[in-house]
Amino acid sequence: MGHAVMTHTQNQPTVNYTALPANTQDLFDQLMEQADNTANAAEYEALMTSLIAITGITGVRYNEILKCACGCDCPTVFDADTPGALVTEEATGYNLGRLQCPDCADDHPRPVED
Ligand SMILES: [Zn+2]
Ligand SMILES: [Zn+2]
Repeated sequence: MGHAVMTHTQNQPTVNYTALPANTQDLFDQLMEQADNTANAAEYEALMTSLIAITGITGVRYNEILKCACGCDCPTVFDADTPGALVTEEATGYNLGRLQCPDCADDHPRPVED
């Protein structure tokens, strides 16, 4: 296991999904799917806590992170309660909303329609 270049004191409010190790990406996908579908609030909290831990995101406000839902295949994982995130789709039948990260919300708000 190599040493991270980044210091642990540095705030890291977003993570690039594609920069995560492959096994972490797999785990991330599994945990996210479970979090999206669970009907149990305590389980949801536990899943989110695990997701935050494996990605290494820091400074999350309400124990909830999301992968950007932008149509540009953006790999950004971010705090769901970060100012500037944009809801692209209401959460209907799922726990997780579909949000664009602040960069996408700035650069090309709303999903691009073909
Ligand atoms: Zn994005
Ligand atoms: Zn985008």
